[in-house]
Amino acid sequence: MRLALDEAALAVRGGDVPVGAVVLAADGTTVLGAGHNEREAGGDPTAHAEVLALRRAAARTGRWRLTGCTLVVTLEPCTMCAGALVQSRVDRVVYGARDDKAGAAGSLWDVVRDRRLNHRPEVIEGVLATDCARLLTEFFRSR
Ligand SMILES: [Zn+2]
Repeated sequence: MRLALDEAALAVRGGDVPVGAVVLAADGTTVLGAGHNEREAGGDPTAHAEVLALRRAAARTGRWRLTGCTLVVTLEPCTMCAGALVQSRVDRVVYGARDDKAGAAGSLWDVVRDRRLNHRPEVIEGVLATDCARLLTEFFRSR
């Protein structure tokens, strides 16, 4: 999560909301991909931290299926990212702050653990939640 927080901090330079994500290999320590929000920086509505980290991990491994991997993200994934996480077949999603307004991993929806889907990653929430939320609060306060 510390690595995801470092990524999140990079988003601010491009004027983006500070959210960061990393994809860890099955060994739990090798970083296969990292990303931060680049919607503003890249003019891309789908450039969320999770999507970018998943794409980079897939590019690095040469396969779209990220079975065994863990995605760590500072903010609860939205519906798009929750969908991408299911599609990528990651084993686990770890997130920091909850997103009561748009979260799709337990708050507003629970797309990643929907029993109707045949792939449901494990979800661990609240890791360094205060640090993750503080980054966002400071960003929005400064605007
Ligand atoms: Zn998202």
